[in-house]
Amino acid sequence: MNQPVQGLVVREQSGFFTVEVADGRLYTCRLRGRLLEDAQSSDIAAIGDQVNISTADDGTGAIEEVLPRKSALSRAVRTTGVRGAGQAEREQVIIANADQAIFVFAATQPTPNFKLLDRFLVAGEASDIEHLIIVVNKIDLESQDIVTKRFEPYVKMGYPILYTSAILEQGVMDLRDLLKDRISVFTGPSGVGKSSLLNQIQPDLGRAVKAVSANSGEGIHTTRDSALIKLENGGYIADTPGIRSLTVWDVEPDELDAYFVDIAAHLHECRFADCTHTNEPRCGVRAAVEAGAISEHRYRNYLDLRDELKETYVVY
Ligand code: GDP
Ligand code: ZN
Repeated sequence: MNQPVQGLVVREQSGFFTVEVADGRLYTCRLRGRLLEDAQSSDIAAIGDQVNISTADDGTGAIEEVLPRKSALSRAVRTTGVRGAGQAEREQVIIANADQAIFVFAATQPTPNFKLLDRFLVAGEASDIEHLIIVVNKIDLESQDIVTKRFEPYVKMGYPILYTSAILEQGVMDLRDLLKDRISVFTGPSGVGKSSLLNQIQPDLGRAVKAVSANSGEGIHTTRDSALIKLENGGYIADTPGIRSLTVWDVEPDELDAYFVDIAAHLHECRFADCTHTNEPRCGVRAAVEAGAISEHRYRNYLDLRDELKETYVVY
C-alpha cells in the first residue's frame, strides 16, 4: 500500500466507491473495516465526500477516513433491522458537500408543481446547501408576465431564478457559468427540459446524467448507484432519484416552519413558541398570510407537508 491520498467520491455502486484524486486518476474503493460498523446507522461515505484513501498499484483502494462534511442532502429510511423497541431509522446520504442545488421547472408544459418545489427548497435548506437556485425553462411557451408573477413569491424569499429556453438557447450560457467549478445537484420533474438544457451545455451530458438516474432504484433494498458527472469546464453535477422523490426526509414536523424561509421570518411574531400555525391564537404566521406577506399557496403547502411528515413519523 502507498501513502494515503485525498480524493473525491464520484460514484457509489453497491458498496464500492469510485474516488478521484488530484491527478484525475480513479480508484475503486471499499470502506475500511472499522468504518463499516458506523455505516449501520448512517452512510459513512457518499458522492461528494472528501476522503483519504490508501491505494494499491492495481487501481483499488480503501477509504481510511471521511473528512468532515459542510453539507449533506439526506433522507431517513426505515430499515427492518431491530434496534431498541424495534424501530430503526437510517440516514441515507444522497449527496455530500454540494455547493448548490438547481431545481428545474417548466414555465408551462408541465405546469409548475409548486408543492414539489417547496419540498425541494425545504430539503435544500435543511441540508445546509449554500446556494438554492430555481431554473424556469420553456419560457418560449409562456408570456413573461405570467411566468414572473407565478414565481414572484420565490423572488421575494431571495431565491435566484434563472429563466431559460433550451430550444431558443436562452439563458444557457448563464447556466453554464453557474455550473462551472461547483458541485451541483440538478433536478426537477421529468419533461421540464433538464436533458435538453444539459445537452446544450455539453454534448451528451443529458444522456449521461439520465443513465445514472435510471440505474438506481428508490427503495432501501435496491442497489444504489449514484454518481457525480464531470463537466468539461470544471465542476460536477448529480441528479439521483433519491433527490427527486423526497417523500421521506430527515425533517421533523415541528421544525418544518424553520425551513420555509418566508414563514420562518414571522415565527417570532407567534404568541407561543411551539405554535403550529394552524389554530393557535395570536399566530404571527397566519396574520402574515392574511396580510399578504406570505403567499397562500406557500402556507397551504406548509400545512400539507407538515401533515405528511406527521404521518411519516408516526407510522413506525
Ligand atoms: P427532462 O425529462 O426534464 O430531461 O426533459 P427533456 O429535456 O427530455 O424535454 C422534454 C420535452 O420538452 C422534449 O420534447 C423537449 O424537446 C422539450 N423542451 C425542452 N426544453 C424546452 C424549451 O425550452 N422549450 C420548449 N418549447 N420545449 C422544450
Ligand atoms: Zn404561529
